[in-house]
Amino acid sequence: MKTIKVNVVTPDGPVYESDVEMVSTKAKSGELGILPGHIPLVAPLEIGAVRLKLGGGKQEQIAVSGGFLEVRPDQVTILAQAAENAADIDVDRALRAKERAEQRLQQAQQEHIDFKRAELALQRAINRLAVSDKR
Ligand code: ATP
Repeated sequence: MKTIKVNVVTPDGPVYESDVEMVSTKAKSGELGILPGHIPLVAPLEIGAVRLKLGGGKQEQIAVSGGFLEVRPDQVTILAQAAENAADIDVDRALRAKERAEQRLQQAQQEHIDFKRAELALQRAINRLAVSDKR
């Protein structure tokens, strides 16, 4: 089976590097499935999971909090604002972030609270909980 190199990089440094059979993720324009030899592409990403198909039927997931995906025929580079391997996600922290964001959204009607900011924080927390393998 052919493989494609995947790099996930954040402002804090590299998070993931491996050769995989397929990369799937959600771009702003919709779901993307990338196989080796894919045409070059640059796409902004949603907050979501990057799903990696490895050899031997193995799968891995990375939580990505938005950014850009660059595809070349032999390489996928993801430049993310933040990204975590499933095993590195702190579930308690994500639960606390989710609770905080939900409270802010409830108060947003009455007070001067940035609704969009709270909504994005909620999306990041929900995404981390969904990707975490310690749930
Ligand atoms: P919090 O309110 O808990 O900081 P956040 O969504 O505001 O959550 P970010 O600004 O997206 O956090 O990320 C800041 C840094 O903390 C990044 O390096 C990110 O990878 C890391 N991070 C955030 N939440 C978690 C988590 N639940 N587990 C592991 N790392 C996390």
